[in-house]
Amino acid sequence: MEKHVVLIYPHPDDEAFGASGTIAKFRNEGVPVTYLCGTLGEMGRNMGNPTFANRETLPEIRKKELIDACNVLDVDLHMLGYRDKTLEFESRQEIAEHLKGILEEIKPSLVITHHPEQAVHPDHNALGAAAVEAVRLIDESERPKLWVQAISQNHVEVLGDPDIVLDITPFFKTKMDTILAHRSQAQGVLGSMDKEKVDMEEIAKHRLGTERFYTWNF
Ligand SMILES: [Zn+2]
Repeated sequence: MEKHVVLIYPHPDDEAFGASGTIAKFRNEGVPVTYLCGTLGEMGRNMGNPTFANRETLPEIRKKELIDACNVLDVDLHMLGYRDKTLEFESRQEIAEHLKGILEEIKPSLVITHHPEQAVHPDHNALGAAAVEAVRLIDESERPKLWVQAISQNHVEVLGDPDIVLDITPFFKTKMDTILAHRSQAQGVLGSMDKEKVDMEEIAKHRLGTERFYTWNF
């Protein structure tokens, strides 16, 4: 059993789509989970459907949604305070040192982040790379395990099959509730998916019912 799990993702909602079933599974086992969220996703294009946010209000709205999502998941939230869409221009070493300091306080047994090259968005790759570096910098005797998530279309071709494949259907409702807590974003991604319709729920379970990670070997 894990002692403490830390997630490191750049945007509010990355945790919801990528790992909320996994998080719910750990919380169900009584494992503490902390989310280090890089930015407020304040440069996002989705403003709700129908629109209820604008460029000025989006940061506060997304912050509130993030807090709501973390309450659904029952995890501790630590906002890292970086600016959206700028992580690739920050010093990787400085971010890694920042993350390392936090990890050394929490002393997790497992860290989860994006794959540094197979995570599509430059923020995902950049924060994933910094997180890998942060874990690498921790002395081997104290170093937590590291799982990375690849979301590019061709990641299986490049990396092979992921070694961690979790069936999260027992926690599917928590996953949907977490996604829907990100009200300004959920509609855009789920499209016209109607929660009430069973066949749509089946489609969603098929698409969102497993979560996959690669164990990172240093
Ligand atoms: Zn993201």
